[in-house]
Amino acid sequence: MSETYLVFAEHRGGKLRQVTLEALQAAAVAADDGGVRIAAVLIGHNAGALAEALAGYPVSDIHVIEDASLEHYNPEAYLHALAELCGAVRPVAVFLGHTALGRDLAPALAARLKAGQLSDVIAVERSGDETVFTRPLYAGKAFEKKVFRGTPWIVTVRPNNIPPAAVGGLATANVAKHDYTAPSSLRTIVKDVVRQTSGKVDLTEAKIVVSGGRGVKSSDGFKPLEELAELLGGAVGASRGACDAGYCDYALQIGQTGKVVTPEIYIACGISGAIQHLAGMSQSRIIIAINKDPEAPIFKVADYGIVGDLFEVVPLLTEEFRKA
Ligand code: FAD
Repeated sequence: MSETYLVFAEHRGGKLRQVTLEALQAAAVAADDGGVRIAAVLIGHNAGALAEALAGYPVSDIHVIEDASLEHYNPEAYLHALAELCGAVRPVAVFLGHTALGRDLAPALAARLKAGQLSDVIAVERSGDETVFTRPLYAGKAFEKKVFRGTPWIVTVRPNNIPPAAVGGLATANVAKHDYTAPSSLRTIVKDVVRQTSGKVDLTEAKIVVSGGRGVKSSDGFKPLEELAELLGGAVGASRGACDAGYCDYALQIGQTGKVVTPEIYIACGISGAIQHLAGMSQSRIIIAINKDPEAPIFKVADYGIVGDLFEVVPLLTEEFRKA
């Protein structure tokens, strides 16, 4: 019987998250056309409706675990559902996005399955008979390459690093629905999730991030940044300095204790560039820093630096982009 790699198909608001396609691609590279079956699992209320969204991608089997009680992410319930499926399917590898959910679920699943785990993978390659995973260390100052010894193993992939899987190549996937009964041992039940952020673009998946630091000076100071982000189809982020000062919500915080982002373009406005902030954004493709202090450490990691007052520079950029 062929081996199976299982991809946790994360979704939100009735849509697959982009990182699901990136995890699929990671699985496809690791499988290396070596007769490995790639399966995906959709968990949630009405999750089966998303099976169609996976059509055409390199997936042989789509497992659907659907129940009203799974509408919101509940670590215990999702772990139970996923572990039961793993018991039935016996995947040798499980791929998840390195999202808030994936970061929570993967280690719990690894403990349950007694699996090896690698988090925050940014590249997957085949070398001889081995699959080699790369992950950043020390805020991107170093990278380690790792291989697994033994199975099963679990990988989380950092959003926006591995190119998404492309449609094509495979016949229609088999869709298998699985019953779900909440275990009586559940200690928590999620009644509702109240969203606080109003951003249209998910920060961790945004191609462009415009971030503000303590230099924005107030919550109103974020307005020019929001305007620029909206014009560019990007998302707004922040340093912890800005969050601590109460200028914005902690949901926007980027860094060691916040979100990790890897956009095509990261525009840091009034952010000094502390190591803890760099931990969350230093892998961005292009970093543009706007800071009035020419000695600010952010310029050391920036591809382009503008020494100036953000309240002059950001509106000028917006004006120019609007003309383009
Ligand atoms: P500051 O360091 O105060 O920098 C403000 C910058 O704005 C300055 O460089 C200044 O020159 C510039 N400026 C001021 N006015 C203007 C203007 N008008 N125009 C242009 N530039 C201007 N930080 C994070 O960001 N994310 C984290 O996840 C995080 N986790 C942490 C975890 C731990 C355990 C610890 C100890 C710290 C953590 N921090 C984190 C905090 C971090 O050390 C810094 O304190 C924080 O990043 C500083 O935020 P800042 O750059 O906005 O503020």
